[in-house]
Amino acid sequence: MVCFIGRSNVGKSSLIKALFSLAPEVEVRVSKKPGHTKKMNFFKVGKHFTVVDMPGYGFRAPEDFVDMVETYLKERRNLKRTFLLVDSVVGIQKTDNIAIEMCEEFALPYVIVLTKIDKSSKGHLLKQVLQIQKFVNMKTQGCFPQLFPVSAVTFSGIHLLRCFIASVTGNLD
Ligand code: GDP
Repeated sequence: MVCFIGRSNVGKSSLIKALFSLAPEVEVRVSKKPGHTKKMNFFKVGKHFTVVDMPGYGFRAPEDFVDMVETYLKERRNLKRTFLLVDSVVGIQKTDNIAIEMCEEFALPYVIVLTKIDKSSKGHLLKQVLQIQKFVNMKTQGCFPQLFPVSAVTFSGIHLLRCFIASVTGNLD
């Protein structure tokens, strides 16, 4: 099992669709309940994927954090890797930091995926990538040292990420 975690609107459902559009056995529809956006939500996608939506607003840090940690630790044995999505336009935000801290604290192996790379200029993107890379190198222990920049619109980086997921899950279908 792998998990995709990130703020609402960071591009999780679009990424899942882009990654698995060729795999008919994976149900790619990520259901969302409008009106329930204040709480952290967990969605199963197919058998092997979980998506965690962390609302940026009204995020109840202590309670939701406990929920998140419990869910993670329960599934920990099967959890091969956590993919933490960060919007490449705005970089690491407060909510992203909470997820990073959780992964660090519980020593969960995680990977930072930069989404929506088609949206900014090359210069802006490069600046964000370097900044986040520096953060990963200097401040993290459990984070995979390479970032995965992707776009669900142009499909840039999708193939590489798909291969990476296949290699960590041992599933090369
Ligand atoms: P989620 O809430 O994390 O599941 O985010 P969504 O996948 O629903 O995406 C939020 C918004 O960002 C939608 O309007 C998407 O069309 C847009 N979006 C997602 N991925 C990309 C991308 O790679 N490029 C661009 N330009 N827009 C994207």
